[in-house]
Amino acid sequence: MSDKSELIFKRATSVIPSGVNSPIRYYPPYPFFVNSGFGSKMVTVDHKTYIDFCMGYGALLLGHAYPSLIDHIKDQLDDGTLFCVPTEKEVILAEKLSSIIPAAEMTRILNTGLEATMTAIRLARAHTKKKKIVKLDGCYHGAHDYGLVKRSDSDYEGVSSSEGTTDEVASLTLLVDYNDISSLENLIRNRDDIAGVIIEPVAANMGLVIPEKQYLSEIRRITQQNGVVLIFDEVVTGFRLSIGGASEFFGIRPDIITYAKAMGNGFPVAAVCGKKSLMELLSPSGNVYQASTYAGNPISVSAALKTIQILEDLGNDLYPRITRTCDTLVSGISDIIKDLGLKFTINSIGSMFQLFLTCDEVKNLTTAKKSDLVMFKRLYYQLLKRDIFIPPSQFETCFVSYVHTDDDIDRTLEGYGQALKEVKTHCD
Ligand SMILES: *Cc1c(COP(=O)(O)O)cnc(C)c1O
Repeated sequence: MSDKSELIFKRATSVIPSGVNSPIRYYPPYPFFVNSGFGSKMVTVDHKTYIDFCMGYGALLLGHAYPSLIDHIKDQLDDGTLFCVPTEKEVILAEKLSSIIPAAEMTRILNTGLEATMTAIRLARAHTKKKKIVKLDGCYHGAHDYGLVKRSDSDYEGVSSSEGTTDEVASLTLLVDYNDISSLENLIRNRDDIAGVIIEPVAANMGLVIPEKQYLSEIRRITQQNGVVLIFDEVVTGFRLSIGGASEFFGIRPDIITYAKAMGNGFPVAAVCGKKSLMELLSPSGNVYQASTYAGNPISVSAALKTIQILEDLGNDLYPRITRTCDTLVSGISDIIKDLGLKFTINSIGSMFQLFLTCDEVKNLTTAKKSDLVMFKRLYYQLLKRDIFIPPSQFETCFVSYVHTDDDIDRTLEGYGQALKEVKTHCD
């Protein structure tokens, strides 16, 4: 007996490659199709309700369809959706970002994280008149040619990780291990062709990897001393780790910061922000080209302004609360693991966590890859069976929102308990 998701998926595969509009959304035999979302839940076309810990890969800090945000956007819709001439709201948003993020002296408002990091990299190159960008292995910065790079056998230079992009472009990206400050320092000290370092200050795209103490401040010191532009890719951490994101949370001032996901709580809006001297290189005043028809459209801008206002109004109720919810979940899962005689690793910070099916500490891509991926798959399906949706990959992060309830957490822990019992195999 096939369900509706299966029937829709069959149609999808003949008109949409693999049936999905972003590759991570596919898992065999077919993903569930969703009709609606409210709070911490999604409801499928088959009327099944899942507790969501993917949360738009972190975008939905306030959960699905947060009522005051949705009402605000409904009002905005009546005033028009696209002007392609400037609005005061864009200025208010840029002013707002400057006031909550000291490094955000100037801002360009964009649509996606991809555009933001691509522009940031261009700015670093234009500013330094150098070509190479250092990327931390396992970090993700969007699906553009500068970022779709993996490690080669020769020590630092990247090679293309996607057909259709070139090794010529990929070789301009140099890769070093996350949390390995001495490799990064050696690389920067021994070369004079490095324009910038781009990093996720908390890495959320190789599972969840936390920066070791002093790691980020050391990167700031080394880049500053060597005239290398430091880009914080805060597409995940922005507005999530704290209202001022990771730069506020860790007290570090990068040269450029990118934002997207949680900035609009489910509406497509992004920003590249930074030092005035760098940002003024953007055309037309400068010669770094960046443009987009939908950049700064009134719906996205209103969504960002309203989201930030809600975050500010919630004040101290917000970040301590989501951290507490996440901590409860993480310590509950840790207890379950211990009770089952397992020794898996859980990384967590703020409202983010990920369970790795390995006994070893996970602090970079190499150690993340030690996870038992076959077991992860089994865990994923076991959770799904119990109405719990997490991102369908070990190399993603689980996200808690402001609207996950105590009941959600109790049910999730019960689900993890049963699911982990099913997938248990021994770890020595
Ligand atoms: C999701 C993500 C991006 C890309 O953002 P899109 O809006 O999907 O283009 C960039 N950087 C990080 C850290 C991300 O997690």
